[in-house]
Amino acid sequence: MKGLARIDQDVMDWVEKDKPKCGPYDAIVRPIALAPCTSDVHIVWGNAYMSDAPNRILGHESTGVVEEVGDFVTDFKPGDRVIVPAITPNWNRVPSQKGFGQHCDGMGTGMTFITFKDGTFAEYFNVNHADGNLAHLPDNVSLDQAVMISDMMTTGFYGAELAEIKPGETVAVFGIGPVGLMGVAGAHFMGASRILAVGSRPVSVKVAKEYGATEIVDYHEGDTVEQIMDLTDGEGVDKVVVAGGNANTVGEALSVLKVGGILGNVNHYDGVESIPLPALAWGAGLADKTIRGGVCPGGRARMEQLVKLVEYGRFDSSKLITHRFTNFDDLYEAMILMRDKPRDLIKPAVIL
Ligand code: NDP
Ligand code: ZN
Repeated sequence: MKGLARIDQDVMDWVEKDKPKCGPYDAIVRPIALAPCTSDVHIVWGNAYMSDAPNRILGHESTGVVEEVGDFVTDFKPGDRVIVPAITPNWNRVPSQKGFGQHCDGMGTGMTFITFKDGTFAEYFNVNHADGNLAHLPDNVSLDQAVMISDMMTTGFYGAELAEIKPGETVAVFGIGPVGLMGVAGAHFMGASRILAVGSRPVSVKVAKEYGATEIVDYHEGDTVEQIMDLTDGEGVDKVVVAGGNANTVGEALSVLKVGGILGNVNHYDGVESIPLPALAWGAGLADKTIRGGVCPGGRARMEQLVKLVEYGRFDSSKLITHRFTNFDDLYEAMILMRDKPRDLIKPAVIL
């Protein structure tokens, strides 16, 4: 079978491999919708690859049809349409039992795709612990919507959840790429009153407003901290979600946070040695501000919960897709788009 692989650092190409084998608790899935992630870009052209295996197939945002299930899989059968979460933990590990399946075998290892085995940019892929990691796809949820739930929705919403947003709070969301836009939507659902969204791509600005942003802050048009402080009459915001930017963004986010505030980070600072924190913004350590950051939760329960917002018409996750392809071979171009991030891009997807 064919797959799009990380051949080596900075090298991506097609490979031919045997179809994956199905263990007793596994499923083999044929993809019907795939999307590249900024994390795939970090894995090929950045510093995020956590294995040293060559020719590993990329991809972790997927929706598919079950082809085969292992003998001990009870809730899924061949022909079922499923959302496959980006994070497919080994649920038998102690960190998973403590609520952190994302880190089941060490930091970030819940992303078993690519870390421990081939990813989903293949004609077939293996899903471990199928009963706990596949999610049934409701008939009235489109493939475009479904594939944006597998990573983007769970990640952006997790940023808002990490920040513990409460009804009526003022929230800043740093970054309105696909992850940050889902952060805006998550903040909106959790009851934020004002949502100040930081970003500049016009396509993202439009969707940010549709998802609930009340004000847009363009970080090219002056100091981000000053702009947010001006907009809030010098008060700052109750909570921050960070979903973009660079190592200095955490300090900026901390600077606009009120005392007692929480910063929920889902941005990945790829290749950064350290993250500077402005001491005064943190009250020299005494401001009762909390910094949290994490990998999105995966697994079946999370997916089947999030998909309900789409299934019952409360949310359209497909607004992120600006570039839609229909051939498996177009995955290559979709990855290049995700790497180069042209101004008219939010997210490419390949719907087969
Ligand atoms: P994008 O590159 O598409 O979006 C980044 C956003 O940040 C854009 O809106 C961009 O603005 C904005 N930005 C850039 N520089 C600054 C700055 N200096 N200050 C404020 N905003 C800035 O990324 P994605 O949305 O695809 O991904 C975001 C991050 O999430 C990545 O690091 C990715 O690896 C990570 N991620 C994390 C996951 C997790 O589980 N924690 C899962 C998936 C992804 P502009 O509009 O100008 O482009
Ligand atoms: Zn991802």
